[in-house]
Parts: sequence; C-alpha cells; structure tokens
Amino acid sequence: MDVGKEKSDTYHKGFKFRLYPTNEQAIQFNKTIGCCRYSFNLALKKQKEKDLLWWITEEMFQNGQLLSNEWKGPRFSANTSMKDHTQFKKTTPWLKEVDSTAIQNAIQHLGEAYDAYYKKEKGRPKFKSKKNDIQSYTSKCNYNKGVGTIRIVDENYIILPKVGKVLFAKSKEIDGKIMNATVRRTPSGKYFISILCEVKKEPTQLSMFETGIDVGLKNFATLSDGTVIPNPKHFYRLEETLKKEQRILSRRIVGSQNWYKQKKKVAKVHEKIANAREDFLQKLSTTLVHENQVISIEDIRVKNLLKNGNLAKAISDASWYEFRKMLTYKCKWYGKTLVVVGSNYASSQLCHTCNYKNKEVKDTAIREWECPKCHTIHDRDHNAAQNILAEGLRILSEMDETG
Ligand SMILES: [Zn+2]
Repeated sequence: MDVGKEKSDTYHKGFKFRLYPTNEQAIQFNKTIGCCRYSFNLALKKQKEKDLLWWITEEMFQNGQLLSNEWKGPRFSANTSMKDHTQFKKTTPWLKEVDSTAIQNAIQHLGEAYDAYYKKEKGRPKFKSKKNDIQSYTSKCNYNKGVGTIRIVDENYIILPKVGKVLFAKSKEIDGKIMNATVRRTPSGKYFISILCEVKKEPTQLSMFETGIDVGLKNFATLSDGTVIPNPKHFYRLEETLKKEQRILSRRIVGSQNWYKQKKKVAKVHEKIANAREDFLQKLSTTLVHENQVISIEDIRVKNLLKNGNLAKAISDASWYEFRKMLTYKCKWYGKTLVVVGSNYASSQLCHTCNYKNKEVKDTAIREWECPKCHTIHDRDHNAAQNILAEGLRILSEMDETG
C-alpha cells in the first residue's frame, strides 16, 4: 500500500523582501495595482449585472410573491472574463502598459472568490477599493529557454515584467524556481515583494530529539526540557510607542493634514511590530524543527480565549496561531512530525511524575505547585510542556498500532 507516501518531491516556499523602486518604478507599480483593481471590478460588475435577475426573484421571494427563488443564472467564469478583457484591451491602450499576467491573476483571483462563494464557504465577492490597506498585484514568471521573466540579477536587483530592474534588500538567499511575485504597497507607502518558489525537497535530516511546547503568557513558550523562551523585550517597547502614537492620533482632527501624517506614523509602528514578530517566530520555529524529530503542541482555541480581555492580549501578542502555522508547514518541509494534543487535555493540572490531577492549578496565577500525592514541586509551564510531550508521544504510538 502506498498510504502516507509523499506524492510530490517539491514544495512551495515564499521569500519576502523590501523593495526600493525609483520614482518611475513606483509609478509603474501603482499603475499596475490600479489596472488590476479596475479589471477585477469590471469583471465583477459584469457578473453582478448577470446576477440581477437572481436579486429580483430573491426580493419577490422575500416579499412572499414567490414560493422559492429558483433562478439560476450563468456562473462566473474566469476564462470568459479573460476573453472579455482581451477584447476590451484592444480599445483601451492604457491597459497594455502594465504586465498582462498581473491582470490575468486578478481575474483568476475573482474566479476563486466566486468558487468559494458558490460552495458557500465565503460571502459574495466585493469590489476592490483604493482605500484598502493591502494594495498589491501578482506577476507570473514565464520561462523561455530556461530564462524567467522574473529573475534576480546583479546580486540584489530583481527583474519584473514591464517594470525592469528593481533594487531590493536581499536579506536571505532565494532557492528554487520562481513561480510568481507579488508586489505590495503598505499604507505607509513602502513596497515589499513576496517571491513564490518551487523547491525540491531536501533529504530529511533525522534527529533523536522530541519536544513538547507549552505556550504561555509571561513567557512566549516553555519546552519540555525546561528551556524557557521569553517574549523579546523590544516587543513591549514597540507597543508602548504604538500606544503613544495612537494617543496623539486620537487628539488630531479627523481628516486634517496632521491627522494623515500621524496616521502614517501609526501605520509605520504597526508594521515594525508585525515585522519584529514575524522575524522572531520564523527563527524560533526553524530552530525547533531542525533540532527535533517530533514536536508536540496543544490545540489552543484562540476564539475561546478571546472572551477574556486580558488573556486575549497576551495570546495575540504571543502570536500562537502564526507560530503553529509555521511549525505545521516547516515540519512538512523537513519531514518532521507535529502532534497536536486535544484542547481538553489538562496539561497544566496533571502531575507529570505521578499523573495526579490537581484541579487547583486551573487558576493561571499559580506559577509553582507541589503535588499533594507525590510531593514533586512543579514549575507550572515546565510540567505542562512535559505532559504535552508525553501525550503527543502516546497519540503517536496509538497511531502506529492502528497503522
Ligand atoms: Zn505527583
């Protein structure tokens, strides 16, 4: 039987960098973003016109004039939409000035949004606005005789279709074959690029180690071997700065020039926080995945925790969700095992030595406790991490037995 065998020997990997475009290049980026938005909105408008009869019957149904809304119109088709676009472009010269694969991508994106809507996974696709925080476009990399339309040249320049050679901050090496690149403009007016690559899987480096991770409030995490990973101190400093800048913003008259200036400042601090956090989580998850063969974590329900205001802040600070996502895909890349222990498993209440359940430890203020049965003194988080690892290994051995 082939169950469990990897089907493909490649995976996708993203690389993100800051771009430093010249003024002309920035204008071309903005033009491309604008043309993508325009084409997306035009295709959406056409579909909405086709859907109009659905809305009319829906209204009659809601008013009780019809027993049900049985009207089924033509569904959105990205292919048809692309053909419409090609026709329209013939008489619209400015659309020819930007990368055509970017517009194609925007229309495909609308197709995916409609598919999700038809499957009832998401709401109706909405028009894109100039005011959205995220302004971006994605260019596809086409290959001709092995040379890509998107490629790195002269160490820290990237060639982009219809834009040319753009300077970027190459903070790490890019490996694999470039599939596409997304240029993004932030609210504060900076440009970033995300390059998606297809990478061949490396032979797995086996490790002897296993670890359980308990994510905390005071510290970011505690490992089952007792290692404590604190939250980087500069997070708090940045948060203080953010609060200060937000307070200043609240005193400005909405819409005034100073208000806009201050808004940009706030956006910049937000960006700094997001970058610092991502950097911390990327490095930590890579280290843990490289060092261990098995990683066991707890299935924390972020939504449940959000009900408690104070806890919520700490949880979102800890970026647990993001961290778990990184561990998931990195374990996949490097052939490691990630086990998720059920959220109803009382990792902090069980004594790791004798398995006695001490319900008093439920109170998160208790940092250290003595087991009433075997009298072991526990650090709350270290004990929890040990339990998470033990439970993870138990789940794995159960899976082995049942095949
Ligand atoms: Zn005990």
